[in-house]
Amino acid sequence: MSDFNPERALYEVKREFGEHGGVCPSVDRSSTFTVMEPGLMPEIFSGLRGPEKDGCFLYSRHFNPTVDVLARYLAALEGTEFAVCTASGMSAISCAMLQICREGDHIVASHTIYGGTWALLHDLFPSMGITTTFVNPANPDAFEAAMQPNTKLVYVEALANPSLRLANLPVLADIAHRRGARLIVDNTFTPMIFSPARMGADIVVHSLTKFINGASDMLGGAICASRDFIHHLMDLHTGRVMLLGPTMDPRCAFDVIQRLPHLGIRMKEHGRRALVMAERLKAIGAPVVYPGLPEHPQYELFQAMMNPGYGFGGMVNVDCGSAEKAEALLSALQNKVRFGLIAVSLGYYDTLMSCSGSSTSSEIPPEDQATMGLSPGLVRLSIGYTGGLEDQLAALEKGVRLAGVV
Ligand SMILES: *Cc1c(COP(=O)(O)O)cnc(C)c1O
Repeated sequence: MSDFNPERALYEVKREFGEHGGVCPSVDRSSTFTVMEPGLMPEIFSGLRGPEKDGCFLYSRHFNPTVDVLARYLAALEGTEFAVCTASGMSAISCAMLQICREGDHIVASHTIYGGTWALLHDLFPSMGITTTFVNPANPDAFEAAMQPNTKLVYVEALANPSLRLANLPVLADIAHRRGARLIVDNTFTPMIFSPARMGADIVVHSLTKFINGASDMLGGAICASRDFIHHLMDLHTGRVMLLGPTMDPRCAFDVIQRLPHLGIRMKEHGRRALVMAERLKAIGAPVVYPGLPEHPQYELFQAMMNPGYGFGGMVNVDCGSAEKAEALLSALQNKVRFGLIAVSLGYYDTLMSCSGSSTSSEIPPEDQATMGLSPGLVRLSIGYTGGLEDQLAALEKGVRLAGVV
């Protein structure tokens, strides 16, 4: 188990208070900033005099004080030197990849990843001359075998969407680094639970839209990495975040800043309830997949990689076998027993439920879904923490029986 404590790291980072001593930070919504002496402008513009070097902020697509506070907190959470926030998880992922790969380069990626990321690698990047080999995330040898001389990047999700397969991060970091490639890890499903940078990942990306924000009311993303890499992303001439421009709005940054202090409490409760529900599903004979059950093929690996105390995450899968059964289950759980809401996305305080094959993974054709073990009957549950746990358990069991899943 890891000895990194992300909650403590987040608490110990320099706190930002409001302009007038408020307990909340101020929101600086300015797009542009006053320069006191015209002679300073060239040095500020060229990055020689930022706010930390006796200069000032310049323009909010470059750096904004409020968005910077969130970036500092996220860097502390992930144990990286620095971070940059973006307008969505996809922009964080695409900018980080495009900063490293150009025409002629190659990526080795897990074949079980978020549908949008899969489409980016499978459908968009080839038109830019960047190719990807997809491999089973649970099999490090497959990564080793897929590495080519032009491989610049290894890409995985720490806990994969939607399969809940785990990537062996220390081993993959070693494989990437021995070949001069970098490891990017999407940690969207497992903030606090895993600290990929502490296990060798060079870059950690997040969709802040999910657990980190926790209220399903905004989109956001983040790239946590070395100070150098973030400076490259913000370079005036070639920075992918700077020039492609997926800037986070300071008001969104403020909202996430206010929710980070209870991320740890939320992750523990998502995980506590998910485990109890997975155990109940198992007890009644439902086809449940959850990394906190000893039956999960990577139960031991999960424990070896996790930061202790945050549980096994809030995502539970029920494989109903067919799309019809999956729809019957969703319908029963939402409309008959009021267990959760049929909606894509995850990390909300209420339970969200979707059939991955026909929604968030529908970019992936059926034959590729089959290769990655994504059954058309897979129902993905993002377990919330509202309502009494006993009532929720009873509703879940009733819904599963009504739908004929057991
Ligand atoms: C949702 C999601 C993304 C994309 O994030 P957006 O904020 O919707 O752009 C990327 N990776 C994973 C694992 C996700 O669940």
